Amino acid sequence: MASRDILLYRNHEAALRRKGRPVRKLNRSIKRLVEDLKNTLMAHPEGVGLAAPQVNAHHRVVVVRLGAGSDGSSEPDPCIALINPEIIEARDERRDFDGCLSFPGLYGQTTRPHFLRVTVMDERGMCFDRVFEGFDAVVVHHEIDHLDGVLFIDRVESLEDLYRVCIGENGQQVRVPVSAILHPGRGVWINSVSRTRISRFAAKGGINGLKSCPNDMIVLQKGLNPHSLLVMGDKPPGDYQSDGSSE
Ligand SMILES: [Zn+2]
Repeated sequence: MASRDILLYRNHEAALRRKGRPVRKLNRSIKRLVEDLKNTLMAHPEGVGLAAPQVNAHHRVVVVRLGAGSDGSSEPDPCIALINPEIIEARDERRDFDGCLSFPGLYGQTTRPHFLRVTVMDERGMCFDRVFEGFDAVVVHHEIDHLDGVLFIDRVESLEDLYRVCIGENGQQVRVPVSAILHPGRGVWINSVSRTRISRFAAKGGINGLKSCPNDMIVLQKGLNPHSLLVMGDKPPGDYQSDGSSE
């Protein structure tokens, strides 16, 4: 019974982008993977789902805790495993809360189905259809995305829908929209983690001091100082290029 390390996007994008292979046989190593995924998720009470690629195991296996609700007000159910989950019906698309254990501290609003019918195998090898509704459908959809290398930042439509949770002056948690911290012309939205590209876009945005942390997804050099924020994602850099302003 082990808890495994969760891969973070800023260090392990390639592994998180790899697709999971279908499970052909519920052998000992898959059973161990299921147990480890459950233990790992239970060790992170802030999370309600975990997919095998997040622990660098490229099989179509996820674990979820249902019944949480997007406001986190209710204690979620115990972990269940969904093996080879396949969506056969998806509808009722709505915007809802999203976040991921591979992106600690980063949250967003995404549009996902709130009704899902999925064929799954459970951990005893039984195959059946199961319906998920409301935020449970969001969670299951997010985890199935992981099996195809799709991450929640891919489904965030604009920077306004992405925010960080920071600690405020009185020690309380504060949601800070990335757009609010991002000074126009100072932040840059780029689609690569390469040092060269970061340096180039950072120079365009007038951002200094990036060499110390070139691979962080969001770089806050001085707390919430908007002049030193770098955001990386899948949007073309043209959306947030420098306007040449300075203070
Ligand atoms: Zn995730």
